[in-house]
Amino acid sequence: MNLDRHGRPLRSLRLSVTDRCNFRCRYCMPEEEYVWLPRSSLLTFEELERVARVFVAAGVTGIRLTGGEPLLRRRLPELVRRLARVPGLEDLALTTNGTLLAGAAAPLAEAGLRRVTVSLDTLRPERAEAFARTRLHAQVLEGIRAAAAAGLRPLKLNAVVVRGFNDDELADLVRFGRDVGAEVRFIEYMDVGGATGWTMDQVVPRDEIVARLATAFGGAEPLPAGDDPSAPAERFALPDGTSVGVIASVSAPFCGRCDRSRLTADGTWFTCLYAAEGVDLREPLRRGATDEELGALVAARWAARTDRGAEARLHQRHRAALYPLEALRRDPHKEMHTRGG
Ligand code: SAM
Ligand code: SF4
Ligand code: SF4
Repeated sequence: MNLDRHGRPLRSLRLSVTDRCNFRCRYCMPEEEYVWLPRSSLLTFEELERVARVFVAAGVTGIRLTGGEPLLRRRLPELVRRLARVPGLEDLALTTNGTLLAGAAAPLAEAGLRRVTVSLDTLRPERAEAFARTRLHAQVLEGIRAAAAAGLRPLKLNAVVVRGFNDDELADLVRFGRDVGAEVRFIEYMDVGGATGWTMDQVVPRDEIVARLATAFGGAEPLPAGDDPSAPAERFALPDGTSVGVIASVSAPFCGRCDRSRLTADGTWFTCLYAAEGVDLREPLRRGATDEELGALVAARWAARTDRGAEARLHQRHRAALYPLEALRRDPHKEMHTRGG
């Protein structure tokens, strides 16, 4: 097993298939203009499948497709079909903003996708328009229902909680999730690359989220970790049995049990969301490196991994946005929409 310097195994890979997005969420893509990855640098489906096989041989058991907005990548079900047949891959999931899910859910499920997480920060179309510059809110709700109908389960809804924006909707989001058969997970607003407007006072910490849920529903009891101790969400049960997840990435980071890494759409591999530099896997891949050589590169980098990015941020005295805009323009690999969240 590949273990890093803190004894953490390499188990999970977030595979970004595009850096493009049809939303402009304020916590991820707040700017007017972006520098995009050159199209010729994007890994083809053949290359993505090959890299996936190398990672699975290195210990990865779960792959989550992400972006940007992954459903903007044309013919995504074809990639899903290729990945679903990789021996040793136990879990294949997708994170999406949901806008294109209504049409894609059934073909994705048929191609072998197991489950979907849809980002849903608000139930109010006018808020979505103000916050993500989108008028496609109704399509998102339709996409969530289509995912449930296509049997993509467990279905999860991710809401980034931002004080003054959607922190008055926690109970409504939980009720909506219950009605569509999805578990809602509240995520603390993180100071990742791309979140240029981040300030600590906009973060609603886990304890406050749980307290608000307990007030709204008459209690919120912690649930045991379950069969995946590295899962980032802490889960709570409401009195009616509904479960809710909270991802305390800012107030109580879970770096100590972090088994995940991220591959950008152009084949740059990051071993931490906050890592300054990644490993270029596209260059050796296109130069003709063998699977063994690529695997050795991955194993060596993981063995040297010491990342605890979010924990390190905890100790910053004057915490502000991770990168200034100029740094993001110089290197779009630092952006959350490039790293895949
Ligand atoms: N576009 C897809 C979506 O939004 O689901 C997939 C990519 S997006 C980068 C992946 C996840 O990152 C989303 O759930 C999003 O809410 C989360 N995210 C982006 N910026 C964030 C931030 N500053 N803090 C916390 N979560 C963030
Ligand atoms: Fe929003 Fe996801 Fe697009 Fe970022 S990548 S702007 S989180 S929809
Ligand atoms: Fe893992 Fe880095 Fe996130 Fe910590 S900050 S949980 S090490 S990706």
